Amino acid sequence: GKIIFGDQILDRSVVHIDLEDRGYQFGDGVYEVIRVYGGKLFTAKEHIERLFQSAKKIKMDISMTPERIEDLVAELVKENGVGFGSVYMQVTRGTAPRTHMFPKPDSQTTAVLTAYTNEVPRPERQLESGVDAITAEDIRWLRCDIKSLNLLPNVLAKQEATEAGCFEAILHRSGIVTEGSSSNAYLVRNGEVITHPADNFILNGITRQVLAKLCQENGIPFVEKAFGVVDLLQADEVFITSTTSEVMPIVKVDDKPIGAGKPGGVTRKLQTLFEAKINEETKV
Ligand code: PLP
Repeated sequence: GKIIFGDQILDRSVVHIDLEDRGYQFGDGVYEVIRVYGGKLFTAKEHIERLFQSAKKIKMDISMTPERIEDLVAELVKENGVGFGSVYMQVTRGTAPRTHMFPKPDSQTTAVLTAYTNEVPRPERQLESGVDAITAEDIRWLRCDIKSLNLLPNVLAKQEATEAGCFEAILHRSGIVTEGSSSNAYLVRNGEVITHPADNFILNGITRQVLAKLCQENGIPFVEKAFGVVDLLQADEVFITSTTSEVMPIVKVDDKPIGAGKPGGVTRKLQTLFEAKINEETKV
């Protein structure tokens, strides 16, 4: 298939990344995943805007415009004939002799954009039945608002969940729930949707932002405040959101059923609203 490398769309087979790419050696870069529904990009502008925000927070100059990136990504999706899938894109600080400090401004090293596409079906069965989660200590750094390439703590947490036969690890800092290893986390209590504030301890998910707006438009209280693992286990409903998982019900946490042990009414309502939003945004 085709990929994006720098400012071009090329055959994947002709592109080679240097051993001293700073993304490879230091995780010195940022990334995004954009969903494709029926060949159409969903909330692409929001993802590309966040890519620029992440880059700015690590003092990295992308040296392309958001508009150019969006055009390239749309073209890539078209050329690869993606139906239901995703675009993975990342920007690293480029290739330079390995030292921790940034390459000198006169070194001709520039940030390098790469992107490729995947076919990924919607997780329909799991959206219907709900999935299980474990809780795990959040051992990440203090800038989780940056969508950085450094994902080792997330990888370790997801692997722990997988080995426990679960879909996701819901992370907590000393008992305060932050987010999932690759998702945002929510509980529902007395009809209110509660989630961690969008500060440096979580990634402010694009799906989270869409959901906040849907709640607002539909009179569902969306409350951004910290809650504990104890609150999670005693909640009426629990769910997570992400670009690939959408609004995913969590029916068991650490082997204990949440509420009635099946997806709850508010979660179902949010799934319906989210699906309508997808259809609205991606209709031809
Ligand atoms: N939090 C983390 C740590 C993530 O990796 C992700 C995305 O994969 C999210 C939250 C959800 O963000 P989004 O809805 O933009 O996919």
